[in-house]
Amino acid sequence: MPDTATNLEAPLLVVGGGIAGMTAAIEASEAGLEVVLLEREATLGGRVAKLFHYFPKLCPPSCGLEINFRRLRENPNVTVFTLADVDKIEGEAGNYTVTFTVKPRYVKPDAGDYTEWAKECPVEYEDDFNYGLVKRKALYYPFENAYPPRWVVDERAVNDDEFKTWAQGCPDGGLDLDAQPETHTVKCKSIAWATGWQPYDANNLDLLAYGKHTDIVTNVQFERIAAPNGPTGGKVQKPSDGSEPKKIAFVQCAGSRDENHLPFCSGICCAASLKQASYVLESLPEAEVHMFYIDVRTPGRLEDFYQDRQDVEKIKLHRGKVAKVEPNGDSLKVTAENTLTGKLMTDDFDMVVLATGMQPATSVHAPDGLELDENGFAVQTDEPAGIYGVGTNVRPLGVAETLQDATGAAMKALLMARRS
Ligand code: SF4
Repeated sequence: MPDTATNLEAPLLVVGGGIAGMTAAIEASEAGLEVVLLEREATLGGRVAKLFHYFPKLCPPSCGLEINFRRLRENPNVTVFTLADVDKIEGEAGNYTVTFTVKPRYVKPDAGDYTEWAKECPVEYEDDFNYGLVKRKALYYPFENAYPPRWVVDERAVNDDEFKTWAQGCPDGGLDLDAQPETHTVKCKSIAWATGWQPYDANNLDLLAYGKHTDIVTNVQFERIAAPNGPTGGKVQKPSDGSEPKKIAFVQCAGSRDENHLPFCSGICCAASLKQASYVLESLPEAEVHMFYIDVRTPGRLEDFYQDRQDVEKIKLHRGKVAKVEPNGDSLKVTAENTLTGKLMTDDFDMVVLATGMQPATSVHAPDGLELDENGFAVQTDEPAGIYGVGTNVRPLGVAETLQDATGAAMKALLMARRS
C-alpha cells in the first residue's frame, strides 16, 4: 500500500472499497487490467462489514470479505488507498486525470499492537462502525478482519490536548501525530463509482420518535446489536438498560415509499426485518416479534424465506402502516393503520426497530459526468460510459445482486480499456 505521493496510471479507477468496489476492482484486475482502488474510510469492507449475517446464505460478512481481502493481498494489479477522497476529475472518457487526497492514519506502518494500551486512551468519539450505539477510543482498530490490518487515530484527536499528552506514552513510538495528507494523481480510462448507500436518516421521521427513546433503533443498528463483534457481544438487549426485550416491533417502510422522504421501495428491508426477527428468536426464544408492513416485498429467492417465516408462531405479521411511535412509561406505544380496512391498531412494545431505507451515497456526493435520476441513483447507460455507477449507487440491491452488478462494471472497464 503506497505511503508516498505518486503519479499513477491504470485503465480503471474504482472509487469506493465496499463489496461492490472491491469486487469490480478484483474482477477487472484478474482479467488483466491495472486498477487503483480508493476508499474514504480506514478499512475496506463498507457496510457489509457491519452486518451480522447477509443473504443469500445468511453467513457472517467475514466469509465473503476474507476471500476478497485475500484476493487483493495476492493481486499485484490493484493498488489500494484507504482514507482517500477524490478532489478533482479532469478529462473525458478514455483519458481522465484524477487527483485525490489521502488523509494520514497517524500510525506508522510498522507500529505494534495497541490492544492493551488503547484501553487506557482517555478520548472517545461516537463509534461509526456501531452506528453510534457506543463510543470508540480515539486510537482504534477498525474491526477484527480490517484490511489493511492497521491501527488508526481518529483525526479529531490530533488537536486534542488530552489525547496528545496521552499519546506521548506510546509504548513503541508508533504514532505520528504530525503526519500530513498526501496528494496523488492517477491517469485512467474509466471510473467505476461504487460509493454505496447510506441508511435514510431516521431523525427525519418525526412521528416515529427516533432519538426520543434509546430503545427505538434502526435496522442497521440492530445488525450491530445482534453481531457477536457488536456492542452487546451479540445479545439482543434494550439499549436503555441492557435488559432482554420480550416484545419487539419492526416498523417497515420507515421513510421509504413516502413522497416526503424516499419515494421508492428500498427493496431489501422486508427481508432484512424477517432475518432480524430470526436473530431475536435465536437469542431470545421466549420473545415475540411483530412486524408492521404495507405489503411484504421479498423478490426472487427471498420469497421462500418469507414463506418460512410466516410459519413461525412467534413472528406476527400485521398489515398496517405505522402512523406513530410514542414513549409510554417503560414501553413504546405503536399505532398502525390497516392499509386495507383503515382500522387503527395500538400495542405496547419493549423495543422498536425502524426498517429505514437505502439512500444512494451519490445523492449526497457524485462527480460531474455521472448522470443521476430524480432519487440520486446513477443512471445506467447501454453504452459503456467513462464514469459509471456500481451496485447500490445504481439502485437498492442486496449483496448478491451487488456482486453481479460489480462484475458487470468490471466488464465495462475492460470494454473501455480496449476502445480507447
Ligand atoms: Fe418497505 Fe419492504 Fe420495500 Fe423496504 S422492502 S421499502 S420495508 S416494502
